[in-house]
Amino acid sequence: MDPLKQPIIALVCPCYNEHEVLPDSIPRLIQLLDEFHGEHGCSAESFVVLVDDGSRDDTWRLISDAAAVNPGRVRGVRLARNAGHQNALMAGLAYATGKCDAAISLDVDLQDDLSALSKMIAEHKAGAEIVLGVKSEREADSFFKTATAQMFYGGMKLMGVNLVANHADCRLMSDKALRNLAQFPEYSLFLRGLQPMLHQRLSTVTYPISPRAAGQSKYSLTKMLGLAIDGITSFSVTPLRLISWTGAAVSLASLLFAINGLVQALMGRALPGWASITVPLYLLGGVTMLSLGIVGEYVGKIYLEVKQRPRYLIDETVDT
Ligand code: UDP
Ligand code: MG
Repeated sequence: MDPLKQPIIALVCPCYNEHEVLPDSIPRLIQLLDEFHGEHGCSAESFVVLVDDGSRDDTWRLISDAAAVNPGRVRGVRLARNAGHQNALMAGLAYATGKCDAAISLDVDLQDDLSALSKMIAEHKAGAEIVLGVKSEREADSFFKTATAQMFYGGMKLMGVNLVANHADCRLMSDKALRNLAQFPEYSLFLRGLQPMLHQRLSTVTYPISPRAAGQSKYSLTKMLGLAIDGITSFSVTPLRLISWTGAAVSLASLLFAINGLVQALMGRALPGWASITVPLYLLGGVTMLSLGIVGEYVGKIYLEVKQRPRYLIDETVDT
């Protein structure tokens, strides 16, 4: 980008039942805009986009009040119903596309190290189109969260998905990257996996993560598992291939088993008892069901994609 130009930065935050943190987060986000303008050579037209992901508490009232008090600087997008973190983020990024030079997405609980954001802007000014925030320490996260995150990134690597490990959903995307993202129409979104496909001028900024200021994590175990399954099935067909390999191995073993049985019978020895019948029966039943389930995951994905339903529905927007 032109080094003399003052980039317009959009801070995009998805918010789901966040009335506990918003009263602290909104002033902090506005303060960040001032810092970007005063210290990091960004445009005074930079703004915050708060996406209300179908909250059931006071979230939207807080957002629309803040938008009324800070016209143009705080903008709100309200989704018609809860669409999930990734889709809410997409809604905010789609809103920002064409209105800014770069969008930085971050969680509204401000767990990400905010000093990393100015580093991201510096990387962008130096030419990066995408700057990923990478969590260096997970001390603030619970043991459960750290363990599941490690399993997730390990599993993804095994499945051959090209992911930058421990990269959070805090990242900078330039206008070019945002326009490229808009060309990916898939319904099942896994933004973290998509990043390396959007532009090769990609860089990272590492920072420690701090505890949530208030409220509870909105990620339940089911939501995290869902994200992991989505991530794997959106980017990798390795599980399908594993089924084929397992099938081949089991078939080979059964063949050897059958030959052995035949030889034993021909030699007139007594056949083994029920164990040799029931054990493979249960085993094969389990393997078959698991395999069907995995195939089903992909079929379900095709079903969702073919319908081409919108990823999110907008109820209203406040951006005057
Ligand atoms: N979030 C959302 N929709 C959801 C769940 C979460 O928009 O269905 C938002 C939430 O408000 C927060 C961000 O996504 O800004 C990350 O959620 P959270 O902090 O609960 O996740 P964690 O930091 O525990 O991974
Ligand atoms: Mg959080």
